Amino acid sequence: MNLTRRSFLKLAGATTAAATLTGVGLNKASAAIIVEPLRIKYSKEVYTTCTFCGVGCGIICNVRDGIIVNAEGDPDHPINEGTLCSKGSSTFNISYIYDEKGKPRLNPNRLTEVLYRAPGASDYEVIDWDTAFDMIAERIKDTRDRTLVETVDVGGQQVTVNRTNAINWLGSAWCTGEENYLFHKMVRAMGVINVDHCARL
Ligand code: SF4
Repeated sequence: MNLTRRSFLKLAGATTAAATLTGVGLNKASAAIIVEPLRIKYSKEVYTTCTFCGVGCGIICNVRDGIIVNAEGDPDHPINEGTLCSKGSSTFNISYIYDEKGKPRLNPNRLTEVLYRAPGASDYEVIDWDTAFDMIAERIKDTRDRTLVETVDVGGQQVTVNRTNAINWLGSAWCTGEENYLFHKMVRAMGVINVDHCARL
């Protein structure tokens, strides 16, 4: 490539301008990273355990003004050492999503009302919580009272069992281990022997 004095000066000028622009661009990007406030700023760390399965990974939730602003694996936890699977990583989305400005807001996909589908009906209807609790309590009591087996014959001897096979209780991964423990105690007291949980808690 033959460079005349004029073309050398042109090339040098263009190169300098490009380098300057790149530098300005880089500086802007760097400034944006520095200026952008941390999502977890002024938040309080709350330690909890993932409820989704029996592995029991540790999670740090960052809470500000009563709202979870972030959730991630606890690096000091002996089980997961900071990692989370896709389910655990979605803990934040149980209640919140980030809006287009990166601010947390309530997840609009949450179910906040009781949906009831009557026998034979094709659609759900919204019912209030008291009505739902009354319906559940009445049906559990009725089923339990109708089906409770008090004793069984074992080798000619009547053995007390006080159990019902007509009810199955399934725990929930949306509840804490402590809540599921209480559910377990409650249904055992009613004589329910078919008890399980998706995480086998
Ligand atoms: S669901 Fe995933 S993050 Fe949660 S306890 Fe199980 S393995 Fe850990």
